[in-house]
Amino acid sequence: MKKYLVANWKMNPVDLQEAENILSGYLEINLQSDIELVVCPPRIFLRNLIEKSGGKFFWGTQNCFWEDIGAYTGEVSVLQVKKLGAKYVIVGHSERREFLGETDEMVNKKIKAVFLQKLVPILCIGGGKEAKNKKADALKIVKGQLFSALHSLPARTIKNQEFLVTYEPPWALSTVSGNQSAPAKKVAEVSYFIFKLLTKTYGHQVGKQIPILYGGSVNAENIQKFSKKLNLAGFLVGGASLNPKEFAKMVDLME
Ligand code: PEP
Repeated sequence: MKKYLVANWKMNPVDLQEAENILSGYLEINLQSDIELVVCPPRIFLRNLIEKSGGKFFWGTQNCFWEDIGAYTGEVSVLQVKKLGAKYVIVGHSERREFLGETDEMVNKKIKAVFLQKLVPILCIGGGKEAKNKKADALKIVKGQLFSALHSLPARTIKNQEFLVTYEPPWALSTVSGNQSAPAKKVAEVSYFIFKLLTKTYGHQVGKQIPILYGGSVNAENIQKFSKKLNLAGFLVGGASLNPKEFAKMVDLME
């Protein structure tokens, strides 16, 4: 199975010059063919960065709206980011659930819109206000968010289109935890649970093809803690992805 390293730059950096500097660092990365490196910068930089990247990476956005066009002030549609050259769309990120009131219903509409445009959703589950407490029932939260995100989507869509799931507990995000990732044991437990839910729902053949990623304070120091034994297909990386040297190291360590 392919491996994924997804860079979520969040609302960084402040201008195009700095964004291009980060990209220059990325262009030095020695990329193995089995790693899909997906860069999700702020949308305002997307076109310029794609043009300057020489086709080296895959591109994504951190959010989308579910309608293609119309009177939705401030929103950007999947169709619009597709036309810019994005392949991936992060949907349901924990920060959006917490700070912007993104509900399960909205996540469901967004996922459907992404599939409809034949882009690849990176569905984030395990986040939101209710999940902020480390002691919250992660399995219950993950199950609820997964099934509501996929609600009324035909099984053939999941079977025929690419789709990634990321377990991302909000208490492990670097900005919240001060770079303390979730314990590997916890990630193993939750990612296996997601795998079981997917295989039970869509059958073993389909379920086992759906890449499951982990996000939350992954960096060059700890990436190897999430060893191959965990069966993760990759990582969603926030803070550490803004430092190209560190990010390059992470790519190397993913081998
Ligand atoms: C993220 O926000 O997607 C993320 C994983 O952040 P960080 O790596 O900074 O914890």
